[in-house]
Amino acid sequence: MGRALIIGAGGVASVVVHKCCQNSEVFDEICIASRTKSKCDALKEKLQGGKTKITTAQVDANNVDELIALINEYQPEIVINVALPYQDLTIMDACLATKTHYLDTANYEPEDTAKFEYSWQWAYRERFEKAGITAILGCGFDPGVTGVFSAYAMKHYFDEIHEIDILDCNGGDHGYPFATNFNPEINIREVSAKGSYWEKGQWIETEPMEIKRVYDFPEVGVKDMYLLHHEELESLGLNIKGIQRIRFFMTFGQSYLTHLKCLENVGMTSIEPIMYEGKEIVPLQFLKAVLPDPASLGPRTVGKTNIGCICKGIKDGKEVNYYVYNVCDHQECYKEVGSQAISYTTGVPAMIGAMMLMNGLWKKPGVYNVEEFDPDPFMEALNKWGLPWKETFEPTLVD
Ligand code: NDP
Repeated sequence: MGRALIIGAGGVASVVVHKCCQNSEVFDEICIASRTKSKCDALKEKLQGGKTKITTAQVDANNVDELIALINEYQPEIVINVALPYQDLTIMDACLATKTHYLDTANYEPEDTAKFEYSWQWAYRERFEKAGITAILGCGFDPGVTGVFSAYAMKHYFDEIHEIDILDCNGGDHGYPFATNFNPEINIREVSAKGSYWEKGQWIETEPMEIKRVYDFPEVGVKDMYLLHHEELESLGLNIKGIQRIRFFMTFGQSYLTHLKCLENVGMTSIEPIMYEGKEIVPLQFLKAVLPDPASLGPRTVGKTNIGCICKGIKDGKEVNYYVYNVCDHQECYKEVGSQAISYTTGVPAMIGAMMLMNGLWKKPGVYNVEEFDPDPFMEALNKWGLPWKETFEPTLVD
């Protein structure tokens, strides 16, 4: 049916490529393009022979002209950006110049400041609208499925949602004292930042890891979880009717936190460049180089993830509590696509979002967050493509 250009060849991209190849009725051709072409070729090697035709290319996604040349040559219907958040704007610029639809899984973050927010990408709204092309922002799991879950709850079970708690639990164990499940640089920038939540129209800021709760996750068990700032809080705060409070919690084990504190204390998580033996290096980038590659965690990670949303609100004047979540097993993911569950839970929704756009269900000119589209076909596709969800109207609430 169509052609997609996938930018990036890391952990998440690998899952997107696997899933597009499983869905050859929609993706009859894909091009994998990234900074290191050998990684694209390795993916192609693994997956070619099926119905989806795979090509590869080298591209520096920081360079708009290179991107435009590649898009003009390949003529995709959509660009799936699974490189790093630093490249969002250059890729959006290239999509605008070539009138090509766009999808990503993480909002733009300038490389030299650990700060992410949607304002930079929302500023493209009018230009995308005028060009007649769609940008779907944040279409991984969180952000991504968490927005679809919230929109689904709103559509079917509530007149108004007053509170949403997004709970992200990784009950997996990779056997290392310290490793991150996705790009270490992005992950550490996120968790070492101040926390915040959205309440009654304003942000309440907390110290990093200041707010801790203990939660008994279905199919995973009891875990410590900590309040973090997370990007979907910003868009859901605007898009969910009647919302008064949204929080995001993520689980962390004690070993991870102790190592992170130590690395912070010695300056290894800093993004300020320093001189080392006559060469400028960024400590966090050096740390990334010595940590295990997230893509290598697949074979050794056991256990499950549970990510979902607890919504509190009213329907027909009565109070409703609703919890919708997905449980994903690291080893099952590895058996299917050779990746652990964090890459899997991000890559599957990215493929589904691209499919929604290519089959016209989520195509409208402009720049949108996922909760602004009809959640029903996406929810159905989650069940079909490997991320089945469960719901309960009697959840344990978070205080
Ligand atoms: P990886 O580090 O494994 O992969 C990133 C890929 O992008 C690498 O192949 C890298 O190339 C490539 N890349 C980096 N810079 C450039 C550039 N300038 N030009 C071309 N390619 C480039 O990251 P992940 O796969 O773990 O994460 C991918 C994205 O998914 C990130 O944006 C992350 O924030 C997001 N994510 C979203 C989640 C969600 O639920 N919404 C959850 C997890 C991740 P090279 O191989 O040369 O380094």
